[in-house]
Amino acid sequence: MTDLEDLPGVGPTTAQKLRDAGFSDLMAIAVSSPSELAAVAEVGDSTAVKIINSARQMADVGGFERGDVILERMKDRRKLTTGSKSFDELLGGGFESQAITELFGEFGSGKTQIAHQLCVNVQLPEDQGGLAGHSVFIDTENTFRPERIVQMASAHGMEPEEALKNIHVALAYNSNHQMMLVEKAEEIAKENPVRLIVVDSLTGHFRAEYVGRGTLADRQQKLNTHMHRLLKFGRLNNAVICVTNQVSAKPDAFFGDPTRPIGGHIVGHTAMFRLYLRKSKGGKRIARLIDSPHLPEGEAVFMVNEDGIQD
Ligand code: ADP
Ligand code: MG
Repeated sequence: MTDLEDLPGVGPTTAQKLRDAGFSDLMAIAVSSPSELAAVAEVGDSTAVKIINSARQMADVGGFERGDVILERMKDRRKLTTGSKSFDELLGGGFESQAITELFGEFGSGKTQIAHQLCVNVQLPEDQGGLAGHSVFIDTENTFRPERIVQMASAHGMEPEEALKNIHVALAYNSNHQMMLVEKAEEIAKENPVRLIVVDSLTGHFRAEYVGRGTLADRQQKLNTHMHRLLKFGRLNNAVICVTNQVSAKPDAFFGDPTRPIGGHIVGHTAMFRLYLRKSKGGKRIARLIDSPHLPEGEAVFMVNEDGIQD
C-alpha cells in the first residue's frame, strides 16, 4: 500500500497530523472533504484539494465485479439466530450476514443486550442457528459486560471462558478511533473466523463530536465511509454487521424524528435492516422492522431475562 507521505504536498509532519485525526490510508483521504482535510492537516484549501485529488488517483478504489460473482457471494449469506423465534421470523430467519442491521431505540430498549446475545449465538454451530465463528465488538460507551456473556453462554451450555475467548473487544475513544478499529478487525479476521462485527454505539461519538449545523456534511461523510467499510468487512468475511443507534423518543433538534434514519438517508440506505426497539410491559420488548427492501414491515415481541433474549 502507498504511504501518505507519497502524496504530493504531504511531508512527515502533515502525514502525522492526518494519521492522528484518523486519516490512516489513502481511501480515507480520497473520500474526505477539502474543508475537513484543510482543518486537520493545517494546510490551505487549495493544497487540500490537491492532496485529495492525488489520493483519489492513487487509492485502491476497488473494481467492478461481474454479476455472477456477486450472485455466488450472495448465495453464501447466512442467518444468525437472535434466540427468539418471533424475532428471527421478523428478520426472515435471523440477522443476515453481508448486511448491516441497525438497532435503534431509546436508552434501555435492549440494543446492547441483543448485541451481547449475538456474540454468544454466533459461536453456535450452524444447525443451532449460529455461524460457528468469532465476533468483534467495537465498544464506544464501555457497555461490554463479560459477566453478561457468562450468563448467556451458560444458558446455552457453553463453557463461559471459551465463549469469552471468541469475542474480540476494543474500546473506541473517539469516532476516528472507532473507524480505525474496523481496519484492525480485518487483521483479527485473518487469524480467526470472524462472523459478526458489532459497533455499540455507531453514532454516540459522532453525535458528541460533530455539534452544530456547520459540521453536518462532514459528519455524514465520515459516517458514510464508516458504514461502507463495515459493509465491506461483512462481505469479505460473510459476517453479520450489527450497529446500534440511541435515539430519544421525542424528536431531537439535531437528529430529527427518531423513527427516521439518522443523518438523513446515508445510514438508512446502507443499513438494509433497521429495527426500532421499544420497551413493553413485564420485561417484554418490541422490535419493529422498518423500510426493509425485501421483507414486510412487522413487529416481534421478545423477552430479555437472565438467560438472554428469548420468546
Ligand atoms: P440499550 O438499548 O440502552 O443498550 P440495554 O440493552 O442495555 O439497553 O438494556 C438494558 C435492559 O436490559 C435493562 O434495563 C434490563 O431490563 C435488561 N437486562 C440487562 N441485564 C439483564 C439481566 N441479567 N436479566 C434480566 N434483564 C436484564
Ligand atoms: Mg446500550
